[in-house]
Amino acid sequence: MDQLSDRINNLSTSATLAMAAKARELRAEGKDIIGLSLGEPDFNTPDFVKEAAIKAVNDNYNSYTPVDGYVELKDAIITKFKRDNGLDYSRSQIVVSTGAKQSLYNIASVMLNDGDEVILPCPYWVSYADIVKLNGGVPVEVKTDISNDFKMTAEQLEAAITPKTKMLWYSSPCNPSGSVYSEEELRAIADVLQKYPNIYVASDEIYEHINFIGGHHSMAQFEDMYDRTITINGVSKAFAMTGWRIGYIGAPDWIARACNKMQGQVTSGANCIAQRAVISALEADPSRIKYMIDEFKERRKLILGLLDGIDGFKTNEPEGAFYVFPNVSAYFGKTVKGKTINNATDMSLFLLEEALVATVTGEAFGNPDCIRISYAASQEQIIEAIKRIKEALS
Ligand code: PMP
Ligand code: GLU
Repeated sequence: MDQLSDRINNLSTSATLAMAAKARELRAEGKDIIGLSLGEPDFNTPDFVKEAAIKAVNDNYNSYTPVDGYVELKDAIITKFKRDNGLDYSRSQIVVSTGAKQSLYNIASVMLNDGDEVILPCPYWVSYADIVKLNGGVPVEVKTDISNDFKMTAEQLEAAITPKTKMLWYSSPCNPSGSVYSEEELRAIADVLQKYPNIYVASDEIYEHINFIGGHHSMAQFEDMYDRTITINGVSKAFAMTGWRIGYIGAPDWIARACNKMQGQVTSGANCIAQRAVISALEADPSRIKYMIDEFKERRKLILGLLDGIDGFKTNEPEGAFYVFPNVSAYFGKTVKGKTINNATDMSLFLLEEALVATVTGEAFGNPDCIRISYAASQEQIIEAIKRIKEALS
């Protein structure tokens, strides 16, 4: 440990990936764990995307790609941004990376100096705070709760701004709360930012298509925000392609160029076969993935109904993504099956040990009263998992 850098010693382990690894380990020991911890669609990658990858292998795509992505892929991304979001980007504004996680890392590394503050509405996606810290930034948490549907208001944003504020990072649909910011809510946030022209926005829209209310809005759609918004997206969620590792940004030219420079020293660019496959994914009409969205919608209904039957779990109705984020604080201080539950981490461990169900503690998302349950699992698994949770807690 002493020999390692302070940077790595100060870094938390990704709680989502750690829980998934723990569930895998217990399963290898023969335990019948139901994994509702990882945000990973349980569908196969669509056949037409797989076929494009096979063709790319046979067509001998094996060389380094342009660092910021194949031109054909950039063009498919440009078409997607225009078609789905009404956003106009040119090739020099697009950077393809090894997952949206790397896109976020690039942004932090090219935008932040030591001590720069990044406002994170809580709950935020697990890796935001650590990516910011790893790059010298200071995460500034803005607390929200179930009473305002886990959304930051314009007033809360304004109160969190200081002379050191450099960026605002948020996801909509939100991982972990499933909340979706409406156009009016985003406009109200943009109105505050008008007074602070040096603040930039990272708008993480990776769950864009997994939206049950229909209206997805991008911060960059506002003309006055376009020049200081970085729109992040990827194919992991909507196309069930988590392992293919492709994410991308649309950004002001100078930010995209900086990300390209950064990536040129770190990865040399994303995998060539995956990039060719993603061209076909993004060129396709979104109706081709509707069967997955419809199934997530069914599962949401199912899990919300089942959770309703558990005393002490208070859940909002998520409008997108595939998570529920129940407040479980009614159990804090109580002893169940000889184990005292004092916080969300205790609850998550209790459920793993006593119900054999893997979830993630809300602490990892900046909210210590909640746990995250992913419903990217079959309806049978969801029914069995919630039954076990109910029994363990009763
Ligand atoms: N942003 C959010 C909100 C996420 O939930 C995830 C999880 N996959 C990512 C970014 C990163 O996605 P990936 O690196 O798989 O593209
Ligand atoms: N984004 C997913 C999640 O929140 C995958 C895990 C990760 O990338 O950390 O579970």
